[in-house]
Amino acid sequence: MTDNEKLKDEIPSYAFIALARRGMEKISLDQCFLNNCDNENPELLEPLKKEEYEDDKRETKEIYIKCKKCNRVFILKLVTLKRVAKSTKESNEEPLSMGMVYALDENKNDLGHIGYF
Ligand SMILES: [Zn+2]
Repeated sequence: MTDNEKLKDEIPSYAFIALARRGMEKISLDQCFLNNCDNENPELLEPLKKEEYEDDKRETKEIYIKCKKCNRVFILKLVTLKRVAKSTKESNEEPLSMGMVYALDENKNDLGHIGYF
């Protein structure tokens, strides 16, 4: 695998958006989240690099992606919360974790919360 393929592997294929009364909507993360760009072709999205950091509450991965349609870079920020809920039944059960996806532009301006993964 090339580095790019490895990076692509770390990006969830889908995020889920909670809809008020209709459950969850599934959206593809293979798209460009920058303004005025409608690229949904994975072939035109090239992961460039990854930055990872964590504290005791969350793990964060920022994956920089180059869009070859608008020739700009955006960041998919994947945040996994640790210990969102504790099981009341068994103390040695795996804690539940939940991931959230955000899109940022190259200068880390927030483009919004995309959904959950
Ligand atoms: Zn684009």
